Amino acid sequence: MIIPGDKLAVIEEFEAGEGTYVDDGVIRANTLGVVHKNFAERRIEVKRKKTVKIPKAGDIIIGQVESAQASDISIRIHFLNNEPSQKGFVGMLLLREDENKVGKNKIPCKVGDLVRAKVSANVDMIIILSLLCSNCGVIYAVCSVCGGKLVKMDTRLKCVECGNIEHRLVAPDYGLVKFP
Ligand SMILES: [Zn+2]
Repeated sequence: MIIPGDKLAVIEEFEAGEGTYVDDGVIRANTLGVVHKNFAERRIEVKRKKTVKIPKAGDIIIGQVESAQASDISIRIHFLNNEPSQKGFVGMLLLREDENKVGKNKIPCKVGDLVRAKVSANVDMIIILSLLCSNCGVIYAVCSVCGGKLVKMDTRLKCVECGNIEHRLVAPDYGLVKFP
């Protein structure tokens, strides 16, 4: 990784290409990026790195629950602020602060559920998620008995196939979300 101003070479070695400038016989970077040395043409370039959007506090994500055990729920992030995110970020849902909303000892979501959550912190890529926002919660879930579709009935979810009743912390638009 190169930052602007970094010395790359001298003009006797290479020709200054894209993303570089010459200062007193020295080729330096004028952009953040990665060095490419084209030996065939004796040219040195700095190619800009594509910026990857990193989840940060306040962002809204949509993800799928990968594991849910007691107070440890991990969610694979598929959308970040409504844009697809393919970097495979995984967030951890901290339950303590969300307990009051679902009731003690009730799990707000299960493996496979699609969930909308807010990023409450990102500390060295440990992404902490929260369900404490007005439209956060489960947006799609299937029956844990038969895999049928769960539809919202007052505060509970009911399976259209087998009639099984389940509990989740659902978002206001449960079952209505269209994906871009
Ligand atoms: Zn069912």
